[in-house]
Amino acid sequence: MLLIKNGRVLDPATKLDTMANVLIVKDKIVKIGSPREVGAKALELQRENGEEIREILADGLVVAPGFVDVHVHFRDPGLTYKEDIHTGSQAAAAGGYTTVICMANTKPPVDSVDVLRDLRMRAMDLPIHVLNAANVTVAMQGQKLTDMDALYEAGACGFTDDGVPISDERLMREALKKAKKLDVPISVHEEDPLLMNSPGVNYGDVSKQLGLGGAPAVAETVLVARDCLLNQDIDAKLDIQHISAGMTVDILRFMKKKGVNVYGEVTPQHLYATEQLVMKQGSLARVNPPLRTEADRQALIDGVVDGTLDMIATDHAPHAKDEKSKPIEDAPSGMIGLETAFALCNTVLVKSGRMAISDLCEKMSLNPARLYGLDAGRLYEGGPADLVLLDPEEEWTVTEADFHSKSKNSPFVGEQVTGRVKYTICDGKIVWA
Ligand SMILES: [Zn+2]
Repeated sequence: MLLIKNGRVLDPATKLDTMANVLIVKDKIVKIGSPREVGAKALELQRENGEEIREILADGLVVAPGFVDVHVHFRDPGLTYKEDIHTGSQAAAAGGYTTVICMANTKPPVDSVDVLRDLRMRAMDLPIHVLNAANVTVAMQGQKLTDMDALYEAGACGFTDDGVPISDERLMREALKKAKKLDVPISVHEEDPLLMNSPGVNYGDVSKQLGLGGAPAVAETVLVARDCLLNQDIDAKLDIQHISAGMTVDILRFMKKKGVNVYGEVTPQHLYATEQLVMKQGSLARVNPPLRTEADRQALIDGVVDGTLDMIATDHAPHAKDEKSKPIEDAPSGMIGLETAFALCNTVLVKSGRMAISDLCEKMSLNPARLYGLDAGRLYEGGPADLVLLDPEEEWTVTEADFHSKSKNSPFVGEQVTGRVKYTICDGKIVWA
């Protein structure tokens, strides 16, 4: 039995926000309540089963549902020199995540039942819940749909060609229809290749200074608008990944008002940083879609605060040191983000007074869980014992030692942030402390 004492317990689903104790037996939350109620329950159970009571003192800590990340790259299979499901899970646990969804742009990609089955098998003995999205199109070529029925049967929780957009509108409609029928999300990476000069750095002042072509915001906005319109009469759960442009927030706000079934993901890095980070950190700050301007960043924050953007997802994208040490035009795009996600978001959204910590937890756990229909993102008696204990006031400086990922490609090393993950509990076990 695990007894969490004197924490500030948050459940975004019921708006519970109270000082309470939480009792966990095996993989379930058994009781949430006053010290007296929970203590009595613990003693009663101990008399029945003789189990020891292990205590965690949570004074000054927030006790919240374990985070759910709908967008990680664990590079497994095929690119495991960057990350694998084991190191990725450790990084996730250190970041307070108890459920993650792996993207399907692996080597080979997850476009066949064989690749997916192997991943589903290997996910069984990981410390956290690792789910898999499968590809929308064969080999991510955007030419032909995968056997989405078979992939769904084999355990795909959703579909995505993350990394590349689906250019063909007719095929996109077919995919949306299929996703609607299966009632699973379809997640899209929106950067129109025809409008891209070069990916990873915003088209603007910084790209010009560096002599790079740059990725303009219109490459994103045009596809976001297109896919919302394509989905209007289909009504699939359309998830726009890693939104970077302020105009995209406006489009989503409009489309949602029109009743389009669309969801928005935003990353901690797009909320925290701008294209200026590229000047400071070079290729480490190269990411698709790119970090943009301060006006874009403010619009993203507004979108999170007013609910236009539903979820914070990391797009954790590990790359090896030698890959990221290349000149910026040759280095791959992407950055790791699981271990720093809460701190960056807490600093930029909560410490700044823009939103309450319970609302941040909603974006990082409840909303993503709801989109995927997962029994996660909530704290309730009888529910899964997947929790995170947070110190929202702890100030710390990010160092390389804080990363448990195989790769260290974070542009936030040296950054001073506020808010730290103290414990992660998954299935009733402490998987990070
Ligand atoms: Zn992507």
